[in-house]
Parts: sequence; C-alpha cells; structure tokens
Amino acid sequence: MYLRTESGTVGRDKSVYMDLKQSTDFKKFLKLSGKKLKMKAVKCYNANTSQEILNLDEVKADDVVIITSGKSISPPANGLNTSQETMFVSVLGAGGVGKSAITLRFVRDFFVNNWDPTIEDAYRKAVDVDNKLCILDILDTAGQDEFESLRAQWMMDKDGYILVYSMKSRTSFEELTPFFKLHKQINESRSSEKHVPIILVANKKDIVDSDSKSRQVSQSEGMEFAAKHGAIYCEASAVTGENVVGIFETFIREVRKINLPQKKDTIRQCCCIL
Ligand code: GDP
Ligand code: MG
Repeated sequence: MYLRTESGTVGRDKSVYMDLKQSTDFKKFLKLSGKKLKMKAVKCYNANTSQEILNLDEVKADDVVIITSGKSISPPANGLNTSQETMFVSVLGAGGVGKSAITLRFVRDFFVNNWDPTIEDAYRKAVDVDNKLCILDILDTAGQDEFESLRAQWMMDKDGYILVYSMKSRTSFEELTPFFKLHKQINESRSSEKHVPIILVANKKDIVDSDSKSRQVSQSEGMEFAAKHGAIYCEASAVTGENVVGIFETFIREVRKINLPQKKDTIRQCCCIL
C-alpha cells in the first residue's frame, strides 16, 4: 500500500510504499506509518473514498492511504474524488531491452541485474505529477517470440504504451515495428477513435555513454522513427535511473492532455492534416 499525508508531502515522492505484511495489527501499522512519514499517525483514510480505515482487513495491497495526526478527512462535496485518477500502461518491446529494469527502477527505485524473463507482471504506483496524484497501473510484459500471441491482449484497453528498445541492439529497434502495427489495428478501429500516446524509449544509455561505438541506433534515427509513428522519443538508463521517472511523468501528462476536451479536438485536427 502507499502512504501519504493529507498535504501530500513525503520527501520528493509524495507517497511512500509499505508492504502490508509488515503490520500484524492496526496499532502496529499506525506506528510504522508514522515512522515512515515522520509524523504522529493517529487516523487513516482510504485516499480513493475518503472513508476512515479502522481495520487492516479493509486495506488492499495497492491502496493509497492518507495518514493524519488526528484530523478527519471529509469526502469532496460532489461525492467523487477528483484528486485521483488511474491510468493503465503496458511496457512493450523485445526481450532483454530492459523493460523489467525500467519498470522496477521506477516502481521500487532499484536496479535488478538478473530479473527472470517476465511473462507478465503488474505493478501499481501512486505518482504525483503537477500536484495531482495518479495511480499508474503498469503491465511489464515479455518480449520473447513465444509470447507473440499475447501481444494484442497486452495492448487492449490501455491508456497508452511505453515501447522500449536498446540503443545497442538494432534488432530490438526493428522488432518494435509489429507493435506499432498492432497499435494501429487495435486503436484505430475503436469507435471512440481514442488517441493513445506512445513513449518510445531508447534504453541502456549508460552503455552508449561510456562506449559510443556500442551504439547501433543513432539518436536521429530513433527520433525520426518516433515522429513517423506519432510517438515521443526518450533516451534512458535503468542502471543510472536517467530519465526513468521522466518517461512515466511524460506518459501521464500526455494522457491528461488527451482527456481535456479542448485538446481532443486539436489532436483530431492533427490526424486529419496528416
Ligand atoms: P526485459 O527482457 O526487456 O525485461 O529486460 P530486463 O529488464 O530483464 O534486462 C535485460 C538485461 O539488460 C539485464 O541483464 C539488465 O540488467 C540489463 N539492463 C536493463 N536495462 C539496462 C540499462 O539501462 N543499462 C544497462 N547497462 N543494462 C541494462
Ligand atoms: Mg522482463
């Protein structure tokens, strides 16, 4: 679960992760929460519903909870929580490009050297972007050919995609073309014509930075490819963490732009011109 204060300031991140298994009873949970948030924890609320939590059974592993030092939180007047949104994103690309490394660097802020090749793994993270909390539901997928049949399923009903290749592997760059094709098939046939943002990530920047000869796909080529498909180009490294947060923040901002009625029209106009 994710803990935050009412004002939403917990260091840089504005929420901290806590494993539910760490707490055996409610009192212990409050004590631990207070320690993590560096405050006196007295009351606890579900960030989604503003309902007070009195029992740990009421909390699920991916809930966001607000801790207060005694203050009560009342639900918004319209009964809806306008401060929280949820977005769904799939991380896609060939095997070994760093999909899991990027996802874990973002979700848990660590780098894993030998992560099991994923079949599929779902993560949730509460992210504060431009002072608005967003729950990001991230699907880390498998790139191996044997899972090709699952690709369409992974791409269905998502708010957008993060497509990853490795700068030091031209093959991994070329292997992204089928994903763009699938994206067209899935999203352009939608009756709602929903625009689905794509962030194109050129990963393993650290390797190329220390040895430029290892680079197999130039920056301009990556940028051209992104422009051709209406994607946003980004260079990153899961090892150093460079741009990793930026990838997900850009994604959230892009989805928000689409959800603004005014911008929707702009996007449609662009599509027509092209
Ligand atoms: P996935 O199959 O796309 O999920 O790839 P993984 O995340 O499992 O990464 C494959 C290999 O590349 C692992 O050995 C990682 O340690 C390594 N790796 C991933 N991202 C980076 C990166 O940014 N820089 C470097 N140097 N290695 C990386
Ligand atoms: Mg993986």
